[in-house]
Amino acid sequence: MHGLMQQRPLSLPHVFHRAEQLFGHKSIVTATAGGEVSTTIAEWAHRVRRLATALDSLGVSDDGRVATFCWNTGRHLELYMAAPCTGRVLHTLNIRLFPEQLVYIANHAEDEVVFVDRSLLPLLWPLVDKLSTVRHYVVIDDGADVEIPDDPRILDYEELLAAAEPYQGRFEVEDENTAAAMCYTSGTTGNPKGVVYSHRSTVLHSLISLIADGAALSERDVVLPVVPMFHANAWGLPYGCLLAGTDIVFPGPNMTPQAILGLLAEHKVTVTGGVPTIWMGALPMLDDYDLSSLRTILCGGSAVPRALSEAYREKIGLPMLHAWGMTETSPIATMSTARSHHDAWDESARADARARQGQPVPLVDIRLVDPASGEEQPWDDVATGEIQAAGPWIASEYYRGEGGGAQFTSDGWLRTGDVASVDRYGFVRLVDRTKDLVKSGGEWISSVELENEIMAHPKVAEAAVIAIPHEKWVERPLACVVVKPGETVTPEEIIEFLTPRVAKWWLPDAVEFIDEVPKTSVGKFSKKTLRDKFAGYQMA
Ligand code: ADP
Repeated sequence: MHGLMQQRPLSLPHVFHRAEQLFGHKSIVTATAGGEVSTTIAEWAHRVRRLATALDSLGVSDDGRVATFCWNTGRHLELYMAAPCTGRVLHTLNIRLFPEQLVYIANHAEDEVVFVDRSLLPLLWPLVDKLSTVRHYVVIDDGADVEIPDDPRILDYEELLAAAEPYQGRFEVEDENTAAAMCYTSGTTGNPKGVVYSHRSTVLHSLISLIADGAALSERDVVLPVVPMFHANAWGLPYGCLLAGTDIVFPGPNMTPQAILGLLAEHKVTVTGGVPTIWMGALPMLDDYDLSSLRTILCGGSAVPRALSEAYREKIGLPMLHAWGMTETSPIATMSTARSHHDAWDESARADARARQGQPVPLVDIRLVDPASGEEQPWDDVATGEIQAAGPWIASEYYRGEGGGAQFTSDGWLRTGDVASVDRYGFVRLVDRTKDLVKSGGEWISSVELENEIMAHPKVAEAAVIAIPHEKWVERPLACVVVKPGETVTPEEIIEFLTPRVAKWWLPDAVEFIDEVPKTSVGKFSKKTLRDKFAGYQMA
């Protein structure tokens, strides 16, 4: 027997019309080079309607890729809606990629138009002759003092909107499996691969930021997404904000810790989110800002060091809300919200729990699989294996079948390439990425765990551990350590600090002091750059 409920597509037009109808009075603030631009959702919605017809006037095909090369701004949010609501596919380009990668990605996706912030034009314009499918570059003037080339391919965003009639009536996307947006993985191995989100997956994933056991976004919130809108759609926060009807604050181009902290304080932000490096940078300045309005700091993208989360708890009474995922998982897959069984635990055990990546969120299934035998592993917090994930917002394949399906199992689960153990409550503890594990004498050492322990040293600002080839042991760990300004530490002190904290054979064979841990395009520790830097390194 069939259920007798209405078949309504789960699609972004619903999110748009809901925001327009119910939350027109709510605000969207964008920090700019010269100050702030403030609009209401009503004004934003009106501009989305104009942008929708402007895309038609540009001749963008019915399912054409609409690329963005933008900071986190209210204008970017217009594109976030206008492209998918008209059946097109939003393609957020990562502004920090190398030129060759950008060219590859834009050509692979067959982008037809790129909307680019004026301040970012100097990064994009030198590539135009290599972008074979792009017909228009629409410049969004963010006040940057950057010359705009005199070229027929260049259009002005405001002129384009002013000339367009607002789209009338309701947007419709009948098939919820229509592509809504795409994002490329950063391609640490091989070429970047395209992940294509559907309307259905995007709407379902957006709801996750509203659940009580997650970020719990509500109409009362003021949300500042620090995580870039080109990094897995800012973890779904923008669409989540529109669904919930929050006020939104966008940081624009100034991503310094001072600027972020200033916005958090000035706008009484309640929920924010970003990778650990952002919050590490902000840590020394917390005392200078009134952050009493904050209730949630969503953090993920790489392991949140326990010491970082604890430092925030001690200073502002708020530990991080740890989440794990990847571009292929939209990205939220697990969240480390405190559970009732943690209540009886002491503060230290609760901090340990918060440092875990957390439980799978509703609708996401995970399993732990031994990569060698393919056997599923028990959730006993001891056995380790690769996490595989399945769910309605987990990728089933890459755009144009790239990768030949190697990252998906024969029964349709995603191989994440992350090694973890899971406790009996389903709390994931991520050990490492497979490729970052230090394989020592047939056993492995978790670079993540070593880093976290080193970063707990009061004089250490950042630390990354990489594997160095070793004649006898195959690989041994090298610790690359950044000391806090004005402090001095010796390698011996680091080893002494680690000795009671990790197994003896885990102790790094060497400690190198560096000025900064190199970062990837989305602000994570770039182990690859470090491995290149220390290629041929001889352990003493
Ligand atoms: P990239 O490969 O460019 O880093 P993603 O942003 O999709 O692409 O990164 C996904 C990976 O980031 C995950 O597979 C995992 O290794 C790591 N990661 C994400 N969140 C966490 C977390 N909370 N703890 C540890 N690692 C994480």
